[in-house]
Amino acid sequence: MASSTSKIVQESLEALLDDKSFLPELTGKTREKAFTSLVSILSTPNHVNKSFLRIALENGKVTRVPSFRVQHNNILGPYKGGIRFHESVNEDEVANLASLMTLKNALHEVPFGGGKGGVVINPRDYSDKELYMICKKYVQYFSEILGPDKDIPAPDVGTGDREMDWMMGEYKSIRPGSSYRGSFTGKSVINGGSLGRREATGKGVYFTFRYMLHNFVKDQKKWLSERKNIFAGTALDHMDKTLSLAFQGFGNVGSVAALEAFQCNHLNNKIVAVSDRNVTLYNSDGLDIPGLVKFTSSSGGDLPVDEEQLKEAEVKATIKDRDDVLSLNVDVLFLVALENQVYQENMKQVKANIIVEGANAPVTSGADKYLSEKGVIIVPDILANAGGVIVSYFEWLQGRETQFFTEEEVFKRLFDKMKETFDTIFPQFFGDPFPLRQNCYIHAVMKISTILYKQGKLY
Ligand code: NAD
Repeated sequence: MASSTSKIVQESLEALLDDKSFLPELTGKTREKAFTSLVSILSTPNHVNKSFLRIALENGKVTRVPSFRVQHNNILGPYKGGIRFHESVNEDEVANLASLMTLKNALHEVPFGGGKGGVVINPRDYSDKELYMICKKYVQYFSEILGPDKDIPAPDVGTGDREMDWMMGEYKSIRPGSSYRGSFTGKSVINGGSLGRREATGKGVYFTFRYMLHNFVKDQKKWLSERKNIFAGTALDHMDKTLSLAFQGFGNVGSVAALEAFQCNHLNNKIVAVSDRNVTLYNSDGLDIPGLVKFTSSSGGDLPVDEEQLKEAEVKATIKDRDDVLSLNVDVLFLVALENQVYQENMKQVKANIIVEGANAPVTSGADKYLSEKGVIIVPDILANAGGVIVSYFEWLQGRETQFFTEEEVFKRLFDKMKETFDTIFPQFFGDPFPLRQNCYIHAVMKISTILYKQGKLY
């Protein structure tokens, strides 16, 4: 497990070791031994699988593409996690993301373990036919370890329903007669995917923020007055005031979350900035998010990059540098692009009082410590971006039963499930001084540790 996640897991275990009400049957030396086992189990993946996929390119050349499938832990159920196509994919990153999946599933009571996959390519450099071959080969090389009751991949950065459809098709060819619908999630609806899966993560990200502010912070008079020096004069001190929001990342998750914020009736939101891999767009009066969503649906996903494209999109905005989004004077910053976006060198420029992690691990552990100590509320990835894996779980269930939920049912079940987690985590957070991330980790680690203990694995 990469250092950032393993450090917080270790701190959570230390807190639990001292909490005698947790697993009280474990005492003295036996307790110490059990906790040593827990540290070693949670800080290392069960399996790291690596292959070099051999791909015949359309130009006649043959290339070998490094690819991974890391299986972190399956005590709660089959391994589950996306497959990322990106040029920066590496073993440490995939292992860290796999461990986050273990924690995320435990936190939200999803009966899966944690896994993650990655292929070291920039998908924009490959033709559709070549991408199809990469998907096929990935399944061929890892077919022994994948399956509906073993390890169930899903889309991540650079992959989507098209890739999951191709992969499930290959899995079905390799294992004729076996149950295959639950082998991959995030498939197209016609191919057994769930309605609402595409929007699930983005909707869940915004719902986490909305539920926290609308249902909790608003009524936390004592909590807020104790933090007068942090929140005085900001919109958090006057919940009836308009909240200014900025979004880093406008892809599958970011665009849906921004649209939810734009359409929200519960809070007075004004989305003043959105960014992507090329630019930041800024408008102090608020951006036309539906207009930008419409533009990106026909631009291959990118936001307008110049005046001509802004005119085409009929959107009023100032074009700023890509990374300017991080240092704007806003109430809330949604990080919905990639990991390690707020780090040692730029953390002091962040002015937002609330950060919502839609992406996985967008704030490094050093920046997390610095900002949390300053009083910034950081809503962590494992809490906020679980919508995708929760609806993936519904997809897996629907595939097993070959009975499908309506879109309305999917979102109701999604929000109900997330609410159950919030109703455990938020009262604890607003009642005690632990940062939200540590609260979430402790909760997840408690669940995993208890099951490991009950199954006799802590020796
Ligand atoms: P995506 O590829 O659809 O979108 C990524 C967005 O980030 C794009 O707008 C891209 O232009 C932008 N971007 C890339 N580099 C950037 C940079 N340096 N600065 C600013 N913007 C940049 O990916 P996605 O599916 O929206 O996933 C985004 C994040 O959410 C990832 O961290 C992913 O792991 C995480 N996540 C996704 C899901 C899911 O269901 N898709 C679920 C959980 C977590």
